[in-house]
Amino acid sequence: MNRTLLTALLLSAAAPAYGQQSISSLPPPVLADTNVATLRDNVLNNDHYAWDITEGLTTEVGQRLAATEAEGRARDWAVKRLTAMGFANVHVEPFSMPVWTRGPESAEIVSPFPQKLAIAALGYSGSTGPAGVTGEIAYFDSVDALRLAPDSAVKGKIVFIDHHMMPAQDGAGYGQFGAPRRQGPTIASKKGALAIVIRSIGTDHHRNPHTGVQYFTDGARPIPAGALAVPDAEQLVRIQKRGKPVVMHLTLVSQKTEGGHSGNVIAEVPGRDPKAPILLVGGHLDSWDLATGAIDDASGMAIMTAAAKHIMDAGRPLRTIRVVWFGAEEPGGFGGRAYAEAHSKERYAIAGESDFGADRVWRFSSQLMKTDPATHAQLTAALAPLGITKNDKGDADGTDIEPTIAAGAPWISLGQDGTRYFDYHHTPDDTLDKIDPAQLRQNVAAWTTVLAILSGGIEPGPKRPKRR
Ligand SMILES: [Zn+2]
Repeated sequence: MNRTLLTALLLSAAAPAYGQQSISSLPPPVLADTNVATLRDNVLNNDHYAWDITEGLTTEVGQRLAATEAEGRARDWAVKRLTAMGFANVHVEPFSMPVWTRGPESAEIVSPFPQKLAIAALGYSGSTGPAGVTGEIAYFDSVDALRLAPDSAVKGKIVFIDHHMMPAQDGAGYGQFGAPRRQGPTIASKKGALAIVIRSIGTDHHRNPHTGVQYFTDGARPIPAGALAVPDAEQLVRIQKRGKPVVMHLTLVSQKTEGGHSGNVIAEVPGRDPKAPILLVGGHLDSWDLATGAIDDASGMAIMTAAAKHIMDAGRPLRTIRVVWFGAEEPGGFGGRAYAEAHSKERYAIAGESDFGADRVWRFSSQLMKTDPATHAQLTAALAPLGITKNDKGDADGTDIEPTIAAGAPWISLGQDGTRYFDYHHTPDDTLDKIDPAQLRQNVAAWTTVLAILSGGIEPGPKRPKRR
């Protein structure tokens, strides 16, 4: 089918503003389904926008730690690329935040069996100073075990927390087994620990530590906090089990300064009705500093941008589609909060985020199931040929859109296969080669389908030159 015919057919599914009448209640549903299917299948087979963005950003910028000069270069890159792709209203919305950076880091068993272990500092870790610190290891098999321990078992020692996170398609282990990282440092600090090391919150067996954010709360004094690579954590457990006191020398030189700058990059596909509630989609532009952040989250932004671009290529949607490349997600969702504050007066038809890698979408859930069952049914039918099932018990997902959803925006979540996500998450191994182009295209096809169905109908526009 040629594009003019396709867009004409898409237009035939045009609906009034969201919330007044469900899209699928309008005739002719059979044609509408056919059109969405054509667009979906074309994207599934031919999308290259998502790969081009992911490859371009990870190659030409590389790591993009929040509030650093590298993230600034990434914003410049984003503005150029989004403008070149033909998006409207491309601009940066800046905000301030503290900046945390990593320095030299190492961990070494001093006794009983001297050897080096692979370690990375966690976000907002305190610093050992360049000379490092030396202390006896206090072993705990969970955060709860640490919580129950008397202060005397911890005071002046280097706390080590173990855990047993397993791979899961929905990444379920990250919630529970992420606690050593999120809460461990604060608990250890309050009990007087010298420092803390955790088994990386990951599911691989490579010597790649997984970094990630943690905060010292409840007035806890910042202490050095690092993650050991999984095989190194297992090594430490074996050494511990020999029954002799284990002494570690730890160097984590980190810096935190106030007055850093970050920003959200915004781009739009303008809708025919500027007053209609908009479709908000995005991912985050910043990455951790250990790698190029290909799956976290260059691919997520790329998927959303590519989907919006496919709608733009097809014509003019009724609703405006806003794509946001959020800044500073990793150190605690700064971009998402800044965005929600700056755009609190806007109305949304939907909000969605892609921030769980680039493997295939296998299920979706949305608030529309309750608020607009007809449209939800249309989404279910149109996504099914991509191997996507509906999940009736799902929740909103995405740190960056969370504050906007909390303020009332309806949500949709497309759940990606997370079986191997935590093998690479926040490690030096989060690089482009981990992305499977076919699965990446399936993601774009899924989100294009969602945007097409929620667009309010797409009117054929003047032929625009295809741009990169
Ligand atoms: Zn992420």
